[in-house]
Amino acid sequence: MNDLIIKQGKLINGDFIDIVINDGRITAIGPSAATGLPSIKEIDLHGHYYISAGWIDAHTHCYPHSPLYFDEPDLIGAACGVTTVVDAGSTGAEDIDDFYAVSRKAKTNVYAFLNISRTGICCQNELADMAQIDNKQLQNAVRRHKGFVIGLKARISKSVIGENGLQPLIQAKTMQEENGLPLMVHIGNPPPKLEEIADLLTKGDIITHCFNGKPNRILDDAGNLKLAIERALARGVILDVGHGTESLSFTVAEQAIKFGAYPHMISSDIYQRNRIDGPVHSLASVMTKFLNMGLSAEYILNCVTSHPANLLHLPHKGRLERGRDGDITIFELKKQRTELVDADGHIRIGTQQFIPIAAIIAGVHIVVAENTTAENISIKNSSAKRSTINGIPL
Ligand SMILES: [Zn+2]
Repeated sequence: MNDLIIKQGKLINGDFIDIVINDGRITAIGPSAATGLPSIKEIDLHGHYYISAGWIDAHTHCYPHSPLYFDEPDLIGAACGVTTVVDAGSTGAEDIDDFYAVSRKAKTNVYAFLNISRTGICCQNELADMAQIDNKQLQNAVRRHKGFVIGLKARISKSVIGENGLQPLIQAKTMQEENGLPLMVHIGNPPPKLEEIADLLTKGDIITHCFNGKPNRILDDAGNLKLAIERALARGVILDVGHGTESLSFTVAEQAIKFGAYPHMISSDIYQRNRIDGPVHSLASVMTKFLNMGLSAEYILNCVTSHPANLLHLPHKGRLERGRDGDITIFELKKQRTELVDADGHIRIGTQQFIPIAAIIAGVHIVVAENTTAENISIKNSSAKRSTINGIPL
C-alpha cells in the first residue's frame, strides 16, 4: 500500500505525470507510474491542474515572537501553496533556539538565515551597535542548528547600520569564512552605496531586494545596470527579489530584465502586515507580477524550486525526482485580468495568474484556503484520519 498517489498532473511543459510518495519521499514518477497501484490516498488531477516541485520562498519573516516582522510559517507557507519557507534573519544567536522549537510545530518546512546581530531584527537598527555582533555566539548557534540555519543575514542600509558604514558587512564576510554558509545581504537606503556593498560580495552571496526603487537600486541614473552589479553577477553573486513592503519597483525590474539581469530567486519578504494589507499578499502574487513582466512560467517556477534548492544547498528539494522529498505544489495558471501593484504603488494590468490549489508536504496533502473550489480533482481517501488547516479539511 502506498501513502499517496497523484495521478495525471500537468507539468509546465504540458506533459502529464503520476507521482507516488511513500515515507515522505517520491518513490516513483512518470507518465503512468501510478497505474494499478494501491494507495491510502489518491489525488487525480485529470490533467486539469499543474504540478511542480514544492515552492520555496527564500525570503520570509515567520518567527511568530518577533516584535517587528512576524507571521506563522503555515499561513505564509502551506496556506499559500508554499512547501518551504526560509526566514531571512528575524532571529539571531539569542533567539534562534526558540524559533527552532516553534518552527517544529509547523506543517511547512522552515529554515533560517541567522542574523549576524545576536538580537535578530528586534528593532530597526540591529547593526548600529557593533557590540551586537558576537562571532563566538553566532558560530555556536550555527553549529547547534546545523541543517536548520542555512545562511547568514546582514541588513546593510542606513537605518539598520547607523554610523557603522561597511563594518558590519566586513564582519559578516569574516564570520562566513568559518562556516561557509551563503550570506544574504539586504540593500536599502545608502550609505553604504550599493557599489561598495556589491564589491565585497563573492560567489553564492545573495543580494535581496534586488529590484528596489530606492537610490541604492541596481540601475544607474541613465537606467543602465551599475558596473559593480555587472561585476558581481559575473562573480556568481545571486539576485533575490525579496518584494516586501518597500522593495519591488516594476520599472527597475522591467529595465533590469531587459539587460538580462534576471532574478535567480523570486521571494516575497512576506510577514503578517504585508500579507494582509499588501502589497505582497503571497508568493504566488509575487510570481504573478513577474509573469506579467514577461518572464516565462517555466523560468518563474525554477526561481521558486530548483534555483533556491541549489543556491541554499537543500539537495532533497526543488525537483520532481525519485528519492527527493515528497513536496509538491498543485496550481492553476488562470487567464484573467488582474490589477498588480508594486511596492511604490505603481499599477500594471496582468492577464494571467498563478493560483495555488494545494501543497503536498512530505506526502501530506494541504488544501490552500481560498481555493477550495477546484472542481476537477478527485480525491479518494481510504484512511479515516483527517486534519485541517485554517479550518479546511485535508
Ligand atoms: Zn526581509
